[in-house]
Amino acid sequence: MDKPTACAPPGCPRSAQSRRRLASVSVDLDPIGCYTAIHGLAPPAEALRHVVLERALPRFLDLFARYKVRATFFVVGSDLEVAGNRALLAEAVAAGHELGNHSHTHPYDLARRERAAILQDVRACHEALRSLLGVVPRGFRSPGYDMSVCLLDVLQEIGYRYDSSLLPSWPYYVAKLGVLAAMALRGRTSRAVLTSPAALLCPPLPYRPDPQRPHRRGQATLVELPVATTPGMRLPAIGTTLVLSERLRLHVLEAMQARPFFNLEMHGMDLLGAQQDHLPADLVRRQPDLQVPLAAKWQALASTLERLSADHDIVPLREVADEVHRHGGIFRPRS
Ligand SMILES: [Zn+2]
Repeated sequence: MDKPTACAPPGCPRSAQSRRRLASVSVDLDPIGCYTAIHGLAPPAEALRHVVLERALPRFLDLFARYKVRATFFVVGSDLEVAGNRALLAEAVAAGHELGNHSHTHPYDLARRERAAILQDVRACHEALRSLLGVVPRGFRSPGYDMSVCLLDVLQEIGYRYDSSLLPSWPYYVAKLGVLAAMALRGRTSRAVLTSPAALLCPPLPYRPDPQRPHRRGQATLVELPVATTPGMRLPAIGTTLVLSERLRLHVLEAMQARPFFNLEMHGMDLLGAQQDHLPADLVRRQPDLQVPLAAKWQALASTLERLSADHDIVPLREVADEVHRHGGIFRPRS
């Protein structure tokens, strides 16, 4: 259940210096075309294709600089074909942030594909980051929170230290099921894929997966760092939840106090503004978080980072993976 392995000092370098809880902040840089595809809409206008990197990434860099947060950005490899995108991501690296692999083309059914197709896509992003930016990624996040035996095997073959794809949240799963069912009833097709319900049974805190059953504990060469969910209800403690409602945000942050590790996942879209960034009206209509003014979303995320940085060590996911590899779990601070 919810039992991380406690690492006792003095063996743990971080715990030797800190009794604070651990947190990571990561941002999936899904291009806007992912969202139009989810909602069955036409692809975005050419001028908007890279709006997430061009407009949202600089806002995240500004936000993180204010709170001295070193984050992890998960990059879609094909975005690196554009020189301007490479320059923006190079700025992130220069500011001390980690870049991770978020697949090359962001196919929502990646985990369901044949092993050779998975390898080709994951390796393409890996090579793009390495050859075009000089970054060797250490971790992976799958499109759509999915995982499979073949995908885990590919990640091990490439030599990744961690995966951070799973979101073991029943409320999120049920909400997604509802949206997909409603779209099907209206005859609209979504590119989104319902993940395996087995993912809902994975431990909520970092663990070493079983290569044959990635949602359970085992002896894989990498570690799984599940995206944060609250104890009990398993509400998704992600950017979308935090920006939608102030009451929900405060509830989630309070509930997460019981966790020794907060793997806060956000999306580039969390810092886009419908008006400022001229987003398509039909997309904004279908996506409630895009109806929240940019200033309010910024404030929600800034308040969250201010609160987290008061009593957490916030480090990139690769450093969390190092701690889990070294000690078999997250150090649980004494209260
Ligand atoms: Zn994504």
